[in-house]
Amino acid sequence: MFESLQDRLEGVFKKIRGHARLDETNVQEALREVRLALLEADVNFKVVKAFTERVRERALGQDVLKSLTPGQMVVKIVHEEVLALLGGEAQTLDFRQKPLIVMMTGLQGSGKTTTTSKLALWLRRHHKRKPYLVPADVYRPAAIDQLHKLASQLDFPAHPSTTGQNPVDICREAVEEAARQGCDVVILDTAGRLHIDEPLMEELKAIKAAVNPHEILFVADAMTGQDAVTVAGSFNERLDITGVVLTKMDGDARGGAALSIKEVTGKPIKFVGMGEKASDLEIFHPDRAASRILG
Ligand code: GDP
Repeated sequence: MFESLQDRLEGVFKKIRGHARLDETNVQEALREVRLALLEADVNFKVVKAFTERVRERALGQDVLKSLTPGQMVVKIVHEEVLALLGGEAQTLDFRQKPLIVMMTGLQGSGKTTTTSKLALWLRRHHKRKPYLVPADVYRPAAIDQLHKLASQLDFPAHPSTTGQNPVDICREAVEEAARQGCDVVILDTAGRLHIDEPLMEELKAIKAAVNPHEILFVADAMTGQDAVTVAGSFNERLDITGVVLTKMDGDARGGAALSIKEVTGKPIKFVGMGEKASDLEIFHPDRAASRILG
């Protein structure tokens, strides 16, 4: 992840630091290379355009070029703007809420069910919380079985959902059942489809209206690059998500989804999936990711 982008940017930075003086042409040339590197990393073209515009304005203004170390200053501006793209400060969940109701959303195959169990384990390990897991994909019996199995392996209570039920009823009843069982987190694993469709969106909106979740996390597969970003944009428009979980960050994705999703949706990446195991979930730290990209 980010490796080829890092290589490319390292080359650009070396060149720009090498100049004792910079003029507008050098800066424009460097920015052209940064732009190409970002596009090759599959960053959304609108994001790339806005990004290079911001860097250009800052680099050509404020007497950067007349300073003693113009190259360093331009590199610093790129660092700051990449960090801003990735989201600035790390953000997680609102732990003041008890019970904390988290709605997991996303397309089929994105890693939603796996992430539901990972998040439950993370909450138990790091925050001593007691999660209640709720399968709400009534269209795929395998999805319900999968979450029941993961819950039993990790020793979490799970709602006895069945395919005959209405998903909105399941979620409403599950919130009550969780309270009865003394659980202080409810994680709703909602239905996914291969593509966005209207009935699914209506169902998710109905669940949101019925249980008022504190968090609506959109789970996206980092390997799908710009598709993940487009779908995140649609989910956010319909559901006003509170954050993103990017899965499969252990793969060789080029980094485009990570660098675009915050700018496109305005919502932070909160967690990243780093593997298939239940313990492979981490808080997303924009500063660490920026360091990895920029060396
Ligand atoms: P869902 O259809 O969205 O519920 O997706 P699943 O949770 O069933 O995950 C789909 C596949 O992706 C499974 O094989 C998971 O093991 C795998 N997966 C999920 N998250 C990650 C991750 O962070 N890294 C890797 N390598 N695989 C993952």
